[in-house]
Amino acid sequence: MNGTMMYESLTVGSLLDHAMNYHAGTEVVSVEVSGEVENLTWGQVAHNARRLAAALDKMGVPAGSRCATIAWNNRRHLEIYYGVASSGRITHTINPRLPPEQLIFIVEDADDQVLFFDRTFLPAVAALKPKLKSVRHFVLMGARDAEAEATLDGLKFYDELLEEVEPLAQWPEIDERSPAALCYTSGTTGNPKGVQYTHRSTVLHSLGGNQPDGLAISARDTVLPVVPMFHVNAWGVPYVTAAVGAKLVLPGPHLDGESLVNLLNAQSVTLALGVPTIWMGLLEAMARTGKKPESLIRTVVGGSALPPSMINQFRDKYGVELIHAWGMTETSPLGTMNQLLQKHDHLSAEEQALLRQGQGRPPYGVSLRIVDEAGNELPRDGETQGDLQIRGHWIVESYFGKNESALTADGWFDTGDVATLDADGYMIIRDRSKDIIKSGGEWISTVELENIAIAHPGIANAAAIAARHPKWDERPVLIAVKNGEADVSEDALLAFYDGKVASWQVPDKVIFVEDLPLGATGKVMKNQLRERFGEILMTAEG
Ligand code: ADP
Repeated sequence: MNGTMMYESLTVGSLLDHAMNYHAGTEVVSVEVSGEVENLTWGQVAHNARRLAAALDKMGVPAGSRCATIAWNNRRHLEIYYGVASSGRITHTINPRLPPEQLIFIVEDADDQVLFFDRTFLPAVAALKPKLKSVRHFVLMGARDAEAEATLDGLKFYDELLEEVEPLAQWPEIDERSPAALCYTSGTTGNPKGVQYTHRSTVLHSLGGNQPDGLAISARDTVLPVVPMFHVNAWGVPYVTAAVGAKLVLPGPHLDGESLVNLLNAQSVTLALGVPTIWMGLLEAMARTGKKPESLIRTVVGGSALPPSMINQFRDKYGVELIHAWGMTETSPLGTMNQLLQKHDHLSAEEQALLRQGQGRPPYGVSLRIVDEAGNELPRDGETQGDLQIRGHWIVESYFGKNESALTADGWFDTGDVATLDADGYMIIRDRSKDIIKSGGEWISTVELENIAIAHPGIANAAAIAARHPKWDERPVLIAVKNGEADVSEDALLAFYDGKVASWQVPDKVIFVEDLPLGATGKVMKNQLRERFGEILMTAEG
């Protein structure tokens, strides 16, 4: 040994240990399924996570087993994240909104040994139990409950399991390249695919994603992840907040706008994170009730394209800064986050707002490139668009259970998104490659058409899709939801595109609907819209 540095394995347990050792008194607030608000601390969460690890040992759940959750954001879910992973097992978060056949597929594919679930999901779990063959232990996340016990034979109770054991004194030694968590893509086409995060990728994602130009969460923050803990690990928030000792507020099941604004204010939240549909609900509730988010400084928004009008609403009406972020299940998820550079200080508010609409820049730890169909790298000029590819410390290499690389021959992951990149690394998503409209050989971005529609005061939400066309192959059709009783006609909405896009990019048709179909993570299901309306121009044109 000569001139060496210490080596410590980068583990999920080390994040919680930091919170326990240096932020034990910092609060973790949890809204339960019953509506009750539980006030714990990081110290108590750490204690419970160690008790859970001991309970799993006692139950004979081997190291390396997958332990699934079907749960809201609450403190038991947080304890499971840590107790399972830090003891050498793998936390598998499942989206409760998945159709039953996909849920069964996922549990089987993951070979889950344990299933932890919230009371809300008892009827669904009880009904599916005969089909969940790999699961040896069904655990209700709460105290003993006679009614639940009668519904599901052999049910175990989380609180009881913890009461019966002494906390594990020390986490076992874990190789940092072993898996800590498993999450499936939402599978809008075909069966979902599992992405398995390692201890190392999770820690590096937490550190890299939380730089000052990224999430920038500190010990002085109170953080509300509205993004579910089953949606790519709540974007890493449960790990980042432990690493810095921030106060964490877990919102439970009620994610409507009014519940959220009440919770933001009751807990003095400074930073909240979620998908655009969540913030649409919040903005609507605040406009209706006149309530304001008193302590909120920043919101992080990502997961689907952000309507630019939302940035202005948050800033002008409520003084809240909105940080746009991009990522996917395969990227842990943080791939880019949008903060301005020093050289942008002198720009006007409008110019800055324009820059903020993009998806942002990669933090240290990931690299981006755009390529053409043959895989040749395209210029980073902010104009040329191409297939977005990514590589780095927290990007998938191969899917769970698949013995083949998910990467290009030269080691990049193709995101399925079409984007531009500029010389500073600012990335703008133009579309998903399967959504983009190809009209007479030219591309039309559905995201751009939607952003314009949503900026119209009479429109609450909109989706643009490619409809088949006899002459142009595909033409844009806009499916729009009116804002309450707003009186907006198809012609008025189409006229709103004048001067905003080239005339050949204006949609051929607007169809007003009551609601857009949303997928399990709050994204518009464009494939359903295409199935419903994709032929509409063929019949109309005869
Ligand atoms: P799925 O791919 O199953 O929908 P993900 O949550 O992994 O589930 O979704 C990742 C995709 O979501 C990205 O590839 C991109 O198309 C879209 N997306 C995520 N964030 C943004 C964003 N800020 N702007 C536009 N699209 C986004």
